[in-house]
Amino acid sequence: MLITQLKDREIIESLICGKAFVINCHGCKEVFFDEKGANELQKELMEAGKLTGILTTDYICNPENMKLRLERYAKQIEEADTVLVFSCGVGVQTVSEYLADKRVCAACDTFALPGYQGVTPLEYDCDQCGECYLNLTGGICPITACSKSLVNGQCGGAKDGKCEVNHDMECGWERIQRRLAQVGRLDVLKKCPVQVRNYATYKDINKE
Ligand code: SF4
Ligand code: SF4
Repeated sequence: MLITQLKDREIIESLICGKAFVINCHGCKEVFFDEKGANELQKELMEAGKLTGILTTDYICNPENMKLRLERYAKQIEEADTVLVFSCGVGVQTVSEYLADKRVCAACDTFALPGYQGVTPLEYDCDQCGECYLNLTGGICPITACSKSLVNGQCGGAKDGKCEVNHDMECGWERIQRRLAQVGRLDVLKKCPVQVRNYATYKDINKE
């Protein structure tokens, strides 16, 4: 299982450059999630004219179902410069892959809780690190897409795009750089301060 917590309000607001389209996932994130806080924030953003629409659904980690649902909101998504996703890290990655040309941001951090994980087909992986980095990495998780879980960029060992640890795997940081270039956000990596990972938020459920 997992716990999803809202990022600080200031952080969420800073993610919206112009207008945003909001996606709420009511799948497994409901455990301990501040639904009231999220609703109030979204209501205020809507009244301030900062949202083009809101889609509330469940299990956005299922790419097929999610695709069908998003198609109905194509116009509102087109009008938004940011898609703000209130879900666990897997949900954000699924949306980010589908809307590859769009700026997709995570409004929540995902923490681990031992137990059943829901019905996600797990196309994408989230290690529930408790401090979601997807807003810096174009929606590709640096914890699971990089063999060393590096959060400040490439180790320099990749050869022909393959990871030096696992030659069968594409270097996660090359993928991140390509994605950021695709959405015109390479400057994020240049401008952001060095990330110091807070392991206090991380609980390795595999070791329990
Ligand atoms: S950075 Fe990766 S592991 Fe951490 S919460 Fe986000 S998706 Fe999950
Ligand atoms: S080669 Fe790429 S994916 Fe592999 S450890 Fe280095 S940065 Fe991470």
